[in-house]
Amino acid sequence: MRDLDDKLHDIYAEVLRRNPGEGEFHQTVREVLGSLGPVVAKHPEYADDAVIRRLCEPERQVIFRVPWVDDGGRVQLNRGFRVQFNSALGPFKGGLRFHPRVYLGIVKFLGFEQIFKNALTGMPIGGGKGGSDFDPKGRSDAEVMRFCQSFMTELHRHIGEYVDVPAGDIGVGRREIGYLFGQYKRLTNRYESGVLTGKGLAWGGSQVRQEATGYGAVFFVNEMLKARGETYEGKRVVVSGSGNVAIYAIEKVHQLGGTVVACSDSDGYVVDEKGIDTELLKEIKDVRRGRVRDYADARGSGVDHVAGGSIWDVPCDIALPSATQNELDEAGAVTLVKNGCRVVGEGANMPATPDAIRAFDDAGVGFAPGKAANAGGVATSALEMQQNASRDSWTFEHTEERLEEIMRAIHDRCAETAEEYGSPGNYIAGANIAGFIRVADAMLALGI
Ligand code: GLU
Repeated sequence: MRDLDDKLHDIYAEVLRRNPGEGEFHQTVREVLGSLGPVVAKHPEYADDAVIRRLCEPERQVIFRVPWVDDGGRVQLNRGFRVQFNSALGPFKGGLRFHPRVYLGIVKFLGFEQIFKNALTGMPIGGGKGGSDFDPKGRSDAEVMRFCQSFMTELHRHIGEYVDVPAGDIGVGRREIGYLFGQYKRLTNRYESGVLTGKGLAWGGSQVRQEATGYGAVFFVNEMLKARGETYEGKRVVVSGSGNVAIYAIEKVHQLGGTVVACSDSDGYVVDEKGIDTELLKEIKDVRRGRVRDYADARGSGVDHVAGGSIWDVPCDIALPSATQNELDEAGAVTLVKNGCRVVGEGANMPATPDAIRAFDDAGVGFAPGKAANAGGVATSALEMQQNASRDSWTFEHTEERLEEIMRAIHDRCAETAEEYGSPGNYIAGANIAGFIRVADAMLALGI
């Protein structure tokens, strides 16, 4: 990571001072500022007009109480968040994460990433993020419904088709979006399809939205491979995680001729040399709400479940970390490099630590940051908003083609920008700079 020049260093020091204890937020701000030195040198107005300082401060942050009644009749209490980070390019847009470790620092890190990611898609969407420390694990369907209803009872006054458009993230899928949308409709008496994305196909959702983040990450890496004169054909791939992003990343790698030999969850990982069976994995995760251990049991002999341990010990040509932030540390990166991994694409948001990224950089490994590689999810959310606004619905083929075009455009934008600003082949610099310039120019145009 580059050292920060004086102006950027002062901005970073201010961020640390104003946001104590928010480690993940500091990490993402540091990463973005680390790319902006050459931009500020060329365009001092970005620093002089406080664009960067303003970017680091959310436009609005909402924190609220979420009381709900569990199946035993007891009152439970959680905390809800929505950070509306930047609306220079369009309504705030970004997912909701339900996970026990969610706190303001996580939501701000995700919201900050989302600004640049959304800008990179080239679509008219600002950046935001939300969520709750609610733990859906082990909760009944009725409990999840009551929680979602209570969450939306407060959130509904802060969102809208032209204001802020939430979607899913970890712990929030189509089921939760359904309960949230139902409550929004009940409270507002409006069938406002464009207020949430990730909806079911029968009630305003888009084809390919569910697949989009995973498919998009694989398309992005495909462009990186093409730039090196390679393809997925015959490649061994490791995908961490086993949620929505991982499942569809695995599916697309297989369609493009690669073999995904391992995936994981928080209990451990499975190695399946024949290639992970996506239909079985979907069944176990989506229908049975099971674990990857159940996958190994169902698949039978030859498939090992490794409890604990590190999935990065599994040798591969390509790694797609698709579980959660900071899941791939320096030791994992060093092992991957030693075992011959040449390309890494982040399916999750910020899964690689700064030390891991440095290890990949030192070894000349191609590295795609999440804000570029996993932008397919939010890009397809923007396509869902387009369909909602025109009361139309597109075919799977057409929507997937649009997604592929968008990922190709993001790849090229990152590669060209990196080159222009003196870091050829550095997708982190390319993504941060290209995303930043689009937002910063809009902020300057809109005044203070
Ligand atoms: N949560 C996803 C992301 O990290 C998707 C957000 C959306 O579709 O609004 O980009």
